[in-house]
Amino acid sequence: MLDATFFRRWLSAATAVIEREADRLTELDSPIGDADHGSNLRRGFIAARTAVEKEPPGTPGGVLVMVGRQLISTVGGASGPLYGTLLRRTGKALGEEATVSPAQLADALRAAIDAVAQLGGAAPGDKTMLDALTPAADALASALASGAGTAAGLAAAAAAADKGALATIPLQARKGRASYLGERSIGHQDPGATSSALLLGALARTAA
Ligand code: ADP
Ligand code: MG
Ligand code: MG
Repeated sequence: MLDATFFRRWLSAATAVIEREADRLTELDSPIGDADHGSNLRRGFIAARTAVEKEPPGTPGGVLVMVGRQLISTVGGASGPLYGTLLRRTGKALGEEATVSPAQLADALRAAIDAVAQLGGAAPGDKTMLDALTPAADALASALASGAGTAAGLAAAAAAADKGALATIPLQARKGRASYLGERSIGHQDPGATSSALLLGALARTAA
């Protein structure tokens, strides 16, 4: 079972990896965007970690809702509302319980990814964060269904997200700023899919 402390540890790991990789995320956002994805997320995750450390919520849902709210109010751009929705909806779906099972987390993530798809009007294959998030949710659900524990399930999700992020390279963007480039968006890895893979990698390491 996963408690609030687990999600606070994830937030620390996520913030650390975003700080470490911010320059690379911004570089990925340079040829097909406006070169701000890393700085956007760094600002948001530092704000989220500060808020959670100041008044730590006692439930997994409480931690994730607080992170989502901070991302919505501090990240800006396209990714702020989308990541904010992802975290807030995951938290809401987990409710007020003090501990949640990995299966509950898988269901909550799935519902939150659907909300992100609805908000942004994107689907897998459009060269967005959904190209990492959707296969990760699928991998988590199928690993748990075949008897994997939390650590193995989240490791499978992180591996699927990495693969999904790499698979955005040959895609033409159909949503977001990169879509303005048309065919010239081909050949570049999507920054949002890359950051999604980093966040899921942090989740897998927290459970390992
Ligand atoms: P902005 O493009 O406003 O500068 P960011 O650079 O922070 O915002 O984030 C860009 C990322 O947001 C893209 O790489 C992509 O993964 C994601 N994104 C953009 N539009 C959408 C959308 N409609 N649906 C899902 N993800 C999107
Ligand atoms: Mg950008
Ligand atoms: Mg921008």
